Amino acid sequence: MDVPTLQLRPLGNTGIKLSSVGFGASPLGSVFGSVSESDAIASVRQAFCLGINFFDTSPYYGGTLSEKMLGKGLKALGVARNEYIVSTKCGRYGEGFDFSAERVTKSIDESLERLQLDYVDIFQCHDIEFGSLDQIVKETIPALQKLKEAGKIRFIGITGLPLEIFTHVLDRVPPGTVDVILSYCHYSINDSTLEDLLPYLKTKGVGVISASPLAMGLLTEFGPPEWHPASPELKSVCQAAAVYCKEKGKNISKLAMQYSLSNKDISSVLVGMNSVKQVEENVAAATKLAVLGKDEETLAEVEAILKPVKNQTWQSGIQRS
Ligand code: NAD
Repeated sequence: MDVPTLQLRPLGNTGIKLSSVGFGASPLGSVFGSVSESDAIASVRQAFCLGINFFDTSPYYGGTLSEKMLGKGLKALGVARNEYIVSTKCGRYGEGFDFSAERVTKSIDESLERLQLDYVDIFQCHDIEFGSLDQIVKETIPALQKLKEAGKIRFIGITGLPLEIFTHVLDRVPPGTVDVILSYCHYSINDSTLEDLLPYLKTKGVGVISASPLAMGLLTEFGPPEWHPASPELKSVCQAAAVYCKEKGKNISKLAMQYSLSNKDISSVLVGMNSVKQVEENVAAATKLAVLGKDEETLAEVEAILKPVKNQTWQSGIQRS
């Protein structure tokens, strides 16, 4: 029997297609625990070999370590540059936020050097809720358009946690200026609020990347890292769900991946991975979903456990009135 391959899905109006599972490289910056260079390179290789064509990073992850590791992993593939799609970000750094035109213009050159690339496919303003949205619209995005003209980036994106930042910006820039949005922790079993925004994004022709299907570790057997911003209640209910799955001989991460992958209006589900095993498990979750469908019974049971915290999130960024 043929092994099913990973689906490629169109990304808004960009003309490019992303693999339904995307490789989130923040763990390569050792933000979820230390990762060796050889494990990082092997994870990138296995991802590419199994059909993942989309890799996301940021100078912020591990204080530039993630970009450097991803760069080494991609170079080691030894394949043509147009066989993979790379996204990195600007405006958020280990030392703080700076969305000025001057800083983001310098930022792309620094990222290209660390990634050992001549261009990135998607360049995103990172966590814009921490900046002035007015500056993003009037200064940062126009600076990114110049980088597009210069051939250093192909597409422009914005990222962040509160969903209202996306409509705020997209309603204020000319159509076609922002190609992509990256939302995180809003299309997982415990929080699916991104769903309501999808029709709006479709009418704008904007591609949708949904990150953190495992809710940054909440929906794993191992649990979240120390810095995770969820409330103690959200953490403990997710832990109870993970234990329930384990006792039933099921894996909560597989269930969570399949939940996020089921919505085809999401171009790519970006999951953070730091080992060959995780890459294989997450790709298998997608290919098995295509053949067998979701485990509706376990999903309903887990949804019932998570009901008291459904759509509970946390504060991120500058408080706006
Ligand atoms: P995630 O929900 O993808 O969870 C990552 C954690 O789950 C890591 O600890 C990883 O080791 C673990 N994991 C992965 N596969 C597993 C499996 N099969 N079984 C058990 N554990 C597994 O969270 P994330 O990494 O924060 O998000 C994914 C990516 O999305 C990031 O790496 C980053 O590239 C991107 N992202 C961007 C933003 C932003 O732009 N603001 C925010 C969050 C995430």
